[in-house]
Amino acid sequence: MKITAIRTAASTGHCMHLWVRIETDEGITGLGECVHGGHQALAIIHELRRRLIGRDPFEIDAIFEGLRRGYVFDGGTGGALITALTGIEIALWDLKGKALGVPIYELMGGKFRDSIRVYADCQVEPSMDFGEIQRVVEDVVARGFTALKIDVDIGAYTGDRRRGGGRPKDLFNYTADEWEHQRMLELVDMTTRAAGKDVAVAVDVHTRLDVPSAIRLARDLEQFHLLWLEEPVPPENVDAMREVKRASSTPICAGENLYLRHGFRDLLEKQAVDIIMPDIPKCGGLSECRKIANMAELYYIPFAPHNVASPIGTMASAQVCASIPNFLVLEFHWLHRDYWASITADGEDIIKDGYIQLGTRPGIGVELNEEVARTYQYPGTTWFE
Ligand SMILES: [Mg+2]
Repeated sequence: MKITAIRTAASTGHCMHLWVRIETDEGITGLGECVHGGHQALAIIHELRRRLIGRDPFEIDAIFEGLRRGYVFDGGTGGALITALTGIEIALWDLKGKALGVPIYELMGGKFRDSIRVYADCQVEPSMDFGEIQRVVEDVVARGFTALKIDVDIGAYTGDRRRGGGRPKDLFNYTADEWEHQRMLELVDMTTRAAGKDVAVAVDVHTRLDVPSAIRLARDLEQFHLLWLEEPVPPENVDAMREVKRASSTPICAGENLYLRHGFRDLLEKQAVDIIMPDIPKCGGLSECRKIANMAELYYIPFAPHNVASPIGTMASAQVCASIPNFLVLEFHWLHRDYWASITADGEDIIKDGYIQLGTRPGIGVELNEEVARTYQYPGTTWFE
């Protein structure tokens, strides 16, 4: 079998959802998705076409690593080039599964579990009171989720901390003042009270704190027994992350801004976190993330992938989660997008009662409804050309 074409399309959603379709001379195709690569990843995939046409699509790891090393001077250690390769890699896995008539997890050593626990990222705003937070939590629990995540980095995106009642925020300063610290605790207190003891709560601060602010927060959050505190400090300095991790019993989770096994090596060897969260359709794809999970397993560190992808990328991530022992929980980030289910070919929600059932469908196990997806076509992109 030989690759004959690589086509791309992109939709809006959480970000640009970049679809990669690989076609072969035997008529078998595969669909992949990558996220957070933007127009750069799109351009890179088009550039890589000439190196892929004529290749055997079953040589997935060799294609990925060969291209990565071939472009090492052009971004082969992280960023859009890796994300572009990730979209190609996931499409190749889908294609291989379909060609052999098996789900991807069967090609990765088989499954450790039949269903994948999913947590819902939900929108708790800094200005919300208990009643408003209770409604957000009730909506998530009513859908069957047993875990959720909230963002408490106040005004992170707008710089307007007044939304929560405080003074305007200096976005370049990582220090949490007294008002901000207390408000973060209040938001967690209200959310955990609303969630009750049967629903786990994770808390994200999106890399916005310095070490003393993060340590104080992690210690004061111990009473809430969180699922984790996510990216308390910026991701570049593993030693700083380790200081935070060692200072409290609140589990620390990080990794959504790292790429490849190489990006996780220091974090794992220094045991600077309690949980890792690679973004599978962004940081290297299915083979690479299975290897990252296996590296983490040596340190008894659970694997809880970050995920903002559509059902295609989410289901691809679930294939990896099935094939490793140390899976904890997978993210769902489309709570308020009503085309989550309709964007799939059968219109079914892949998440039922907070879990993804893997099933026996070949490849990724879910298809895109291109007609529906195209109504959300990303501005300035072409459609499977
Ligand atoms: Mg995060």
